[in-house]
Amino acid sequence: MAFSGNPLDRAGHRRSDEAWLREQAAAGLFLPFWQNRPLVVNERAGFLAWREDWRTCTRIFLGLDDNQPLFAVDLTGEEEPGLGEGSFQEMRASAFVLPARDTAIAGQAKALLDWHKRHGFCPNCGAATQLRDGGYRRLCPACGAEHFPRTDPVVIMLPILGDECLVGRSPRFPPQLFSAFAGFVEPGESMEEAVRRELREEVDLAVGDVAYHATQPWPFPSSLMLGCYAQALSKDFQIDGNEIEAARWLSKDEARARLAHKIEDELKLPAAIAIAHHLIKDWAAR
Ligand SMILES: [Zn+2]
Repeated sequence: MAFSGNPLDRAGHRRSDEAWLREQAAAGLFLPFWQNRPLVVNERAGFLAWREDWRTCTRIFLGLDDNQPLFAVDLTGEEEPGLGEGSFQEMRASAFVLPARDTAIAGQAKALLDWHKRHGFCPNCGAATQLRDGGYRRLCPACGAEHFPRTDPVVIMLPILGDECLVGRSPRFPPQLFSAFAGFVEPGESMEEAVRRELREEVDLAVGDVAYHATQPWPFPSSLMLGCYAQALSKDFQIDGNEIEAARWLSKDEARARLAHKIEDELKLPAAIAIAHHLIKDWAAR
């Protein structure tokens, strides 16, 4: 699953030690980002030696790869920085090119750097906050409030009934794409309740049991996708016409044929980078 399987030891018990972090930085390799895009060199994450002109950039600790300390650094400027090797590539596109481990590491870096960019000021008192713990905390020197990087839970669910599953199309999707249904978990809501509420809202589908399948970190900007199967109580549905513009039941045979690209028409299923692909594929293989 893309963005999962991160091999780094995040050394969470050590990264609040500033002296230890300085030692790691002195021996570190650094993955530059520019405008949320990682540097890609020869189809690998482009970790480079430190450059002095990066000293004013946001720098975060990613973890230890065996004993090699790895960091990410957020380069600023309107123009793409020329580093002599590789190029900055959009994160989603990079996931199709990089090895799985590099995708997971770059995803971790992107989610964190993106959070720092948007949390420079304290939501409690408005003062400028300071980076701490290698990037896993921001501290407000004025009021003492601590702020921690967010991970937002999103339910993503495939309704199933007998030999069929329901897929839907959001107007925000690329043309012809049909996928599982998804939505943010709201405060005070369990995962199962969020699944039932979202399916009610989007396709007015009645659902009984909800079964957890797998999770996927999704750094756009900082979600954790909670993949579930939702047992539909009937095949009746009604699209809301707003978040969902079309939906269709698919048989297992049809789902397998479409995932294998044996049917090419106006309905496409998600690529393997997305957890929705795995929800459909794993169910159809049962
Ligand atoms: Zn404050």
